[in-house]
Amino acid sequence: MTSNAAPTTATQPTATRPAVTPSPAATPASGDTLVPPTLRDVLDARRTLAPHLETTPVRSYAPLDAATGAHVVVKHENLLPTGAFKVRGALNLLLRTTPAERARGVVAFSTGNHAQAVAYAARATGTPCTIVMPTDPNPTKAAAVRDLGADLVLHGHTFDDARAHATALAGRTGARLVSAANEPHLVAGVATAYLELLEQAPDLDVVVVPVGGGSGAAAACLVARALAPDLEVIAVQSDAAPAAHDSWQTGELVNRPITSRAEGLATGCGFALTQAVLREHLGDFVLVTDDAIDHAAGLFLTGARTVAETAGAAGLAAVLADPDRFSGRRVGVVCTGGNASPAELRRVLAAAAP
Ligand SMILES: *Cc1c(COP(=O)(O)O)cnc(C)c1O
Repeated sequence: MTSNAAPTTATQPTATRPAVTPSPAATPASGDTLVPPTLRDVLDARRTLAPHLETTPVRSYAPLDAATGAHVVVKHENLLPTGAFKVRGALNLLLRTTPAERARGVVAFSTGNHAQAVAYAARATGTPCTIVMPTDPNPTKAAAVRDLGADLVLHGHTFDDARAHATALAGRTGARLVSAANEPHLVAGVATAYLELLEQAPDLDVVVVPVGGGSGAAAACLVARALAPDLEVIAVQSDAAPAAHDSWQTGELVNRPITSRAEGLATGCGFALTQAVLREHLGDFVLVTDDAIDHAAGLFLTGARTVAETAGAAGLAAVLADPDRFSGRRVGVVCTGGNASPAELRRVLAAAAP
């Protein structure tokens, strides 16, 4: 098992929550000032989502404890509709729009789970939905978006091309562009997972959250800061797509190349809203290799009867990578998603122990 050295904890001054001006790169459609959600917003989101989403289970597995030396509690976000935590955020956002806003429709660009979440929430709220993906999308995820009734537009070779097209489309049609991270209602919806987790496992010492755009880790920070200030929140990203990690470390929104195989973590830039929250409360941000993530996904399969997509296994990878830090502690590991492609599963199994 290899891992990168964990950077030291940031000790930036924390004050009241500042409003955040998103960078144009991070939120192409919005120059608005974003204010992070409060605990009140998260409680509100829980009430809004309650009729739509069940509480996801937490489970412990002896093979995971044996492999890590820790007491691991897995939060099973892979069991939500659409197979990833992102549906919490998209549903909370769309359930709060007015009929007039819904009539104008929504647009999102994504290679994966954000697209499915927005399409699912759009269907649930009767909102016309267009999803833009690059021209050779993951066929499983493209099919899922179509099955949810969204209009799928394939445009450009890269994520950036798709983003530019989605932005132009929204500008032309008046549809609302839904960012994967710079959306307070989305972060508040995602944060309901951490309210649940604190109720289900109130004695956790630390929670480890896989990061792409940072909505999940920011959500964990907001809930921990309000309800469990001594709960350590650790973020993890692939070292082959370190934009969020590097943004947190440098204190600036940086762009980084993406070579990671873990789609859910493969975000090329830091996002203003989530980075602002992470800077205030995140305990640490670590990097793991794609191979370590594959190994952890294999352990989820063989040791926890759980199909995790590789992004969803990054938290477990971080715990496996640093026994000195985690052994003997009660560690929440968020399994963020289960939408593994057949090719991904074959690779993971090939790398798993015999
Ligand atoms: C989107 C996603 C992530 C990263 O979440 P962010 O909130 O963008 O940081 C992690 N795992 C899975 C499965 C995802 O779909």
